[in-house]
Amino acid sequence: MKKNQKDKVTLLTLGCAKNVVDSENLIGQLKANGFQVVDNLKDASVCIVNTCGFIKPAVEENLSVVLELVNLKLSGKIQKLIVSGCMVQRFDKELKEEFPEVDLFVGVEKQAEIIRYLKGNDDDLKNQLLGERYLLTPKHYAYLKISEGCNRECSFCAIPNIRGKLHSRPIENIVQEAVNLANRGVKELILISQDTSAYGVDLYGKVKLIDLLEELTKIDGIRWIRLMYLYPAGLPDELFDFVADNEKICNYFDIPLQHISDKVLKLMRRGTTEKYIRNLIEKIRVRNPEAIIRSTFIVGFPNEDEKDFANLLDFVEKFELDRIGVFTYYQEDGTSAFPLGDPVPEDEKIRRRNVLMELQKEISWKKNKEKIGSDLLVLVDQKQGKTFLGRTEFDAPEVDNLVYISPQNSSIRVGDFIKVKIKRAKEYDLFGEALKV
Ligand code: SF4
Repeated sequence: MKKNQKDKVTLLTLGCAKNVVDSENLIGQLKANGFQVVDNLKDASVCIVNTCGFIKPAVEENLSVVLELVNLKLSGKIQKLIVSGCMVQRFDKELKEEFPEVDLFVGVEKQAEIIRYLKGNDDDLKNQLLGERYLLTPKHYAYLKISEGCNRECSFCAIPNIRGKLHSRPIENIVQEAVNLANRGVKELILISQDTSAYGVDLYGKVKLIDLLEELTKIDGIRWIRLMYLYPAGLPDELFDFVADNEKICNYFDIPLQHISDKVLKLMRRGTTEKYIRNLIEKIRVRNPEAIIRSTFIVGFPNEDEKDFANLLDFVEKFELDRIGVFTYYQEDGTSAFPLGDPVPEDEKIRRRNVLMELQKEISWKKNKEKIGSDLLVLVDQKQGKTFLGRTEFDAPEVDNLVYISPQNSSIRVGDFIKVKIKRAKEYDLFGEALKV
C-alpha cells in the first residue's frame, strides 16, 4: 500500500438523493482501494465535499461549507480538500479562481479521478477497484439510480447543463444492483433519476419503465418499490394500472407539476396544459383511488400574475393533492428563462409560497384526521427514546410525513414492517400504537 493510502478520508454530502448515491458509490470505491473512510471530520486528513449547484440558495449554502473547509485546511486540521459534484460541474472556473487552496475540483460522476488523485497520479484507472456501494441510508431502504441527466427543456432548470443528456442504465445492471441490495437487507427501493418517465428511451428507443418495474418486482426481499420524479407530460395509462395492480409498487405518484396556468406552463416549457394536468390527476384517482399524489410548484416565475396564482390556489384547493412542496423562482444563468428577467419581487414570491403552503397545511390536516382509527402498515425507520418513527407506503424518506409509534410492549426493531393503529393526527404527522402482527 502506498503511503498516501493511509489517509483517513471523510465525505460530506450536500444536496439531493442523487448526490447521496454518488457519495455511496465513491465510499465503496475508496474502501476497495485501501482508504480508511471515517465519519467525523475531526478524525480525517482528507475531506471530500460532494456539492449541489441546482439553484442560487443551494450554491450559496455550499460555498459557505467550502469556505469553512478551506479555513480548516489553512489551520492544518485537514491536509487535503477535494470539492466534487454539481456545483463544480457548473462553476468550475470561478471556483478554481476563488479557492486556490482546494487540492482538486471534480465534476459529477468522476469518482475515478478522485481515487487516482489520492493514490497518486501515476496510478492507472485500470488498477482501480470498483467496490461495493456503501449505504448512507438506514440499511432497510436504498435509493436506486435508474438514469442520469435529462432531455427535457424546462426553461427554469439548469440540470441538463450540469448533468447532461439522459443516459439510462441498462435494465440488467439496475436489477443486479437491486438484487445485491436485497441480499444486504434492503426492503424498500426508491427509484430516482432526473426524469423517471423517460427511463430507457435513449437506450432502447422507447420508454422501458414498466419493463424495469416488472423485473424489480420479482426480487425476493423487496417489499416496496417507490417511484420518484415522474415527469407529467406523456405519462402512459398502463403505468397507473401497473401501480394499482402490483402490490410491491407503492401507491405513490411523485409528479412535479410546477404550475397550472397555461401561460406560465408555456413559459416554463413544460409540455403540459391545465386541461392535461386536471385530466391526469382525475385519471390517476379513478384508476387508483388509494394512491396519494405528491407534487412541487414554483411561484414567482416571470410574468406569473395574480390571476395565474389565484388559478394555482384554486387548483390546489379543489384537487387536494396529498403532499406538495413550493419553491420560489430563482433566475439561473444558462437557462432559457434567464432573458425573461426576474420581475416578481422577492417578498411577493415568499408571500405566494406562504399562502400556498398554508392552504396545503389545512388540506394535509384534514386528510390526516381522516386516518384516525385506521390500521396502517408502517416501515420503522428509527428509534428516538422510547418512540419509534416510521413511514407508510404514502411517504418517502426525508420529504414526507412520519408516523410516531408507541411500541405497546411489542418487540419492534428498526427495519420492521408493522401495523399501527392511528390514534392522533397533526398537520403533517400521525401518532399511533403498534399492533401485534
Ligand atoms: S424534467 Fe425539467 S425540471 Fe426536471 S431535470 Fe429535466 S429539465 Fe430540469
